[in-house]
Amino acid sequence: MNDRNDHNPSGLLSVDEARSRIFDMLRPIRGDEQLAIRSALGRVLAEPVISGIDVPPYANSAMDGYALRAADLPAEGTATLKLIGRAMAGAPFEGRVGAGECVRIMTGAKLPDGADTVLMQERVEAEGEQVRINAGHRPGENVRHPGEDMAVGQTVLEPGRRLTPADLGVLASLGIPEVRVRRRLRVAFFSTGDELVSLGQPLGEGQIYDSNRYTLYGMLQRCGAELLDMGVIPDRREAVRRAFQDAMSQADVVITSGGVSVGEADYVKQTLDELGEVHVWRMAMKPGKPLAVGRLGEATFFGLPGNPVSAMATFYQFVQPALERLGGATPGEPLVLKIPTATDLKKSPGRLEYQRGVLARDAHGNWTVTSSGRQGSHVLTSMSRANCFVILPAKSAGAKAGELVDVQPFAGLI
Ligand code: AMP
Ligand code: MG
Repeated sequence: MNDRNDHNPSGLLSVDEARSRIFDMLRPIRGDEQLAIRSALGRVLAEPVISGIDVPPYANSAMDGYALRAADLPAEGTATLKLIGRAMAGAPFEGRVGAGECVRIMTGAKLPDGADTVLMQERVEAEGEQVRINAGHRPGENVRHPGEDMAVGQTVLEPGRRLTPADLGVLASLGIPEVRVRRRLRVAFFSTGDELVSLGQPLGEGQIYDSNRYTLYGMLQRCGAELLDMGVIPDRREAVRRAFQDAMSQADVVITSGGVSVGEADYVKQTLDELGEVHVWRMAMKPGKPLAVGRLGEATFFGLPGNPVSAMATFYQFVQPALERLGGATPGEPLVLKIPTATDLKKSPGRLEYQRGVLARDAHGNWTVTSSGRQGSHVLTSMSRANCFVILPAKSAGAKAGELVDVQPFAGLI
């Protein structure tokens, strides 16, 4: 444990520094599996996907219209071509388009031999076998070329990518039915606290229901992890120790909530010191000051703060990007937008704050952000109402209505 040295003069570690220390510590898991592409949605690609064919495989029409030779386009005035057949998607024209000839063609149909240009049907006058065309067309227009989207030998998808619906389409276009993906991360998690009661039991005096195990379940499920829910562990040294041993023997990642401060019943740090290597950081972050991170044998450990909003904020800011890396993914930068705040946002300088906000359009149709309600780290409803974090830097002393603030939306298109 080296928390003295981990901290800057204010006694608190900056969020950026904490994040880079965590990322430096991670060793991605090994192991992959072969899956049918549908089952691979959301999984992390283990090898590059290299195109074995050209897509599109042949020159084809981008429009419904007429296929002809660019040499027959009139420089001025009009020209009349002879219609010699039809080319449909899936039913190519077998012949050849010669000088002064054209073929009726549909979108996606193979461009007939001899033709190199397609005119939109709206731009010609067709009457029986006579097709009259104007000047002003570009040679080669409305033709899609072989390999224009993906060419043979091209690396189309890089390893480390989480497969999206579009990627499934890319794989299908290449005729690839299966891919190798990283195995799922196995994550064990439990709550600590004598005051916690599991659902289904009545609340006694001084007790609360355990909510962190449910928010954690939800967040981990979204990460695509295999979950091992170990329940509530009482604040007793032996019980905490047994839970750690159990978790670390079965999982790649162990996540706890509560008990990471230095209170009398906080056994998480002590246990970690005995069984592994741990760093507890007091971070210049609100909510979520204490965070424990470390190694437990082969497993990676995250001890989240007990307060429900703190547990969620630290999960999203540290654990989720760490899980991505552990699982072999190469995640992009999180999306952060500059958005005007509709109301004043209160804050004192010192710690970086992740306030909870609602990103919505105002009466003029412009995007603005509003506080989602009381910001206490125990007020889970303001997290539940929120659809974004409002990130206020450590130095900030709050924001006035109309000021631009950094907004990190919870969800995007995936
Ligand atoms: P701790 O970090 O254990 O000192 O807990 C800080 C605060 O969070 C206390 O008010 C706890 O009762 C509360 N808390 C801890 N764990 C949970 C949990 N799993 N669900 C709901 N609240 C919790
Ligand atoms: Mg506790």
